[in-house]
Amino acid sequence: MSRRSYCRCTRVRNFNYEQAARKLGCYRRWLEDNISRLPHQKYGSAPVFCECELALIQEMHSVISDAALEHAAALADERGQAAEPEPVLSLKSIRPAGASRRARTAS
Ligand SMILES: [Zn+2]
Repeated sequence: MSRRSYCRCTRVRNFNYEQAARKLGCYRRWLEDNISRLPHQKYGSAPVFCECELALIQEMHSVISDAALEHAAALADERGQAAEPEPVLSLKSIRPAGASRRARTAS
């Protein structure tokens, strides 16, 4: 993973401590105290955050119970969205269409 492979920004739009704290709804002091563990950019002594870094911080600090997680997965299922990615088929499991029918008529 490259240093900024998580970043989807198409143009530079950074937020300083005050702006980031307002967007996240947290205390500026919390960001300052935890900056070494948070994704950010650093120019001199002024750390800044892009939208993607704020989203990562949000994900890192989201608290969700197992029950809530199961409920969210069930909702996603109802809506036809796969909660988990489709399993990758192994080569052995792949058969040409109609192969079993042809085998049956041959015998
Ligand atoms: Zn970004």
